[in-house]
Amino acid sequence: MSAPAARGPIVTIDGPAAVGKTTVGRMLAESLGYLCLDSGLFYRAVALATVRADGDPDRADDALAAARSLRLRFAADPSGKFAARTFDGDCEISEALVSPEVDRTVSLVSRIPEVRAAMLEPQREALREGGIVALGRDIGTVVCPEADLKVYLDASPDVRAKRRWKERRDAGGEMDIADIRENLLARDRIDSQRSIAPLRAASDAVIISTDACAPTEVVEAIRASMTERGLIHAA
Ligand code: C5P
Repeated sequence: MSAPAARGPIVTIDGPAAVGKTTVGRMLAESLGYLCLDSGLFYRAVALATVRADGDPDRADDALAAARSLRLRFAADPSGKFAARTFDGDCEISEALVSPEVDRTVSLVSRIPEVRAAMLEPQREALREGGIVALGRDIGTVVCPEADLKVYLDASPDVRAKRRWKERRDAGGEMDIADIRENLLARDRIDSQRSIAPLRAASDAVIISTDACAPTEVVEAIRASMTERGLIHAA
């Protein structure tokens, strides 16, 4: 029997909404020359497709039909390292994926077991060759428990709400910070209480609080953990 093909390292970053996973994940991936996979985009696309089909995001049949209808495609940013644009077939959905309507409905579709099952294989396929930083809620616990380094990021609700508000404002959106905070907490509640693949740190995850840390410091902390494990060499 031939030995399994060697794959590159896999680093997972899980954590609650707006904790900084995307910012840190992209910076880390860029510094390592890895790809960055944001699994939240899969669930956001399901929520968007459900709403656009006039479905009920709380009904398994509607959400699963939407999940199955998706022809998701990601286009890399100019560096080629992460998905900066998302398409469903030929239609770009990047902006719609971060709309308040998707923010409100995404945790409903993502707690449906059939939807999670349908999303599992595409995520594992994307991780197959390694050399990747994968972001989400259950990547280290369910999607890829064999990852080489599992990171769990945490931060207080106030800090997270402020970051998300600033991010949306910089992108040209106007939202009330109190509404954003409420949405983050509602999503965290559903994401961590659902029966399947709830949001939680893997037992062997490195836990980092990002409350008082700049993204560059978090990236450095993760790189230090990778060095300790022999995944990369010290600079
Ligand atoms: O990371 P992001 O905020 O874009 O994720 C949106 C939502 O997608 C989360 O609130 C959660 O309900 C769902 N999600 C998930 N599992 C993942 C990634 C995201 O359930 N691995």
